Formats: sequence, C-alpha cells, structure tokens
Amino acid sequence: MKSVLVTGCNRGIGLGLIRHLVREKNPPAHLIATCRSVEKAKDLQQIASENNNVHLLELDVRDFDQYDAFSKKVESIVGQDGLNVLFNNAGVSSKFTRIQLVKHEQMLEAFKVNTIAPVMLTKALFPLLKRASEKNPSKPVGAERAIIVNTTSVLGSIALNSDGGLYPYRCSKSALNMATKSLSVDFQKDGILVIGLHPGWVKTDMGGSKAPLDVDTSITGILQVLENVNESHNGGVYQHDGQRLEW
Ligand code: NDP
Repeated sequence: MKSVLVTGCNRGIGLGLIRHLVREKNPPAHLIATCRSVEKAKDLQQIASENNNVHLLELDVRDFDQYDAFSKKVESIVGQDGLNVLFNNAGVSSKFTRIQLVKHEQMLEAFKVNTIAPVMLTKALFPLLKRASEKNPSKPVGAERAIIVNTTSVLGSIALNSDGGLYPYRCSKSALNMATKSLSVDFQKDGILVIGLHPGWVKTDMGGSKAPLDVDTSITGILQVLENVNESHNGGVYQHDGQRLEW
C-alpha cells in the first residue's frame, strides 16, 4: 500500500497505528496522520521529524465544512496514485450514560464523531480511494487497491449487548456498522473494500488501565487483518484477532 490516512492520531490506537506503520518493512510512501492540533501533538511531531513519509494534517472530524478543503490537501500529497487506506479511527465515549443520567448532548456528540464523521469523510475522500483502486486493477481487492476501515466496537453489537446502558457509544457504533455495510455495497463495483474493525479492549485513555490488551498487541493484530482481507470480508465487522464479530 502506497498511502494510508488515519484520523485521530494524537494518542491511543491512532498514534499506535502510525508508530507501527513507519516501522513496517515496506512502509507506505505517504502516511497521513490527522489530529486536532499539530502544535499539541508532540509524539506525532517527533515521528514526523524522523520519517519524511509522515504528513501531519489538522482535522477536527466534526468540522464537516472543512472536508472539501481537507480532501484537496490529501490529494496534494497522494497525487495521481490516490489513497489506498482510510482508517476512520477518531472516536469518543462518555461517562455516566445509564438511562437515568444520559444527556442528549452526549448522544449528539457521539453520533457526530463516531458515525457521521466516518460517513462524510468517506464521501469526501471517495474520489481518491476510487483513483487508487483504478490504478491497481490487477491487484487483489484490499489494501493494495483501496480499503476503508471503520473503527467500531463490540459495544456496538446488538447481539452481544447483555449489560444495557452506554447509549451514546453503543448506538453510534451500531449505526457505524450499518454505514459500513451500506458503503460496502455501494463501493463494491469500484473495487473499494469496507470493513468494521473492533480493536479489542485496549489500554488507552478510552479503554482505561484495566483493559487486557496493550496498544502494540492490538495494532499488530489490526495490521494482520488489513494484510489478509479479501472480497469475502467486505461489509463485515472483525476483531483485531481476525474473528468475525456478531452484530
Ligand atoms: P482515545 O480516547 O485514546 O483516543 C481518541 C482519539 O480520537 C484521540 O486522538 C482524539 O484526539 C481523537 N478524537 C476525538 N474526538 C475527535 C474529533 N472531534 N476530531 C478529531 N479527533 C478526535 O481512544 P482509543 O485510541 O482507544 O480509540 C480509538 C478508536 O478505537 C475509537 O474509535 C474507539 O471508539 C475505538 N475503540 C477503542 C477501544 C478501546 O478499548 N480502547 C475498544 C473499541 C473501540 P484528541 O487527543 O485531540 O482528543
């Protein structure tokens, strides 16, 4: 894969993805890491200073009006080769969301960041993903052509919900899964794969210190999934260990 774009790389899984991708045997020619403030993203700045294939772009994923300008910046980096991989990774969860406590603002924020942003950013970057797929017609469908990875969660699974609560997060990730399915149907003819990916329960600011997985273990699995995906995975939701998740 020549180019990869990851949203929300200031910390956690997004930062971990960038750290791992620069260390790959054949790292992407263009690794576009987005964050809300480049000035505050000290770890990313350090990585970019040591790797000239890393490009830092600012993006608050709720700034939908900026998406056209943002996609032009991405195009100026990837050029005629297009964009091979889009990781919709940026996400939010909030505390105290049992039914007696949940606030409509929390629902709106979760939907904006976790559901609407991945759909609208995909829409904005579709021409570049399509270009990458068309440039590589002889390669198998997946990261060598074009793929969108929507970072979802087991907490968005309807089948596996036995604890209730968590309305903003659960509902927004369930809706993201539906968007993943629709995108996979819509883009099949364009040779663009779309999958949902649950990174596992990971030690990050969101996952907390009790999470069983460290970032490195999760990312190693995620990158293996990315390497092994094919047409049969299109529209599905997978864990970091490659297992398919029930919706
Ligand atoms: P973190 O809370 O550690 O990091 C979240 C990242 O998203 C940060 O870089 C943050 O940027 C960014 N972000 C949040 N809001 C916005 C916004 N409006 N615009 C741009 N960037 C934003 O979470 P994780 O790394 O753990 O989570 C990454 C993804 O993985 C999320 O989609 C999450 O739902 C999913 N996930 C995580 C699990 C876990 O156990 N950790 C389990 C299942 C899914 P900033 O630093 O500026 O706030």
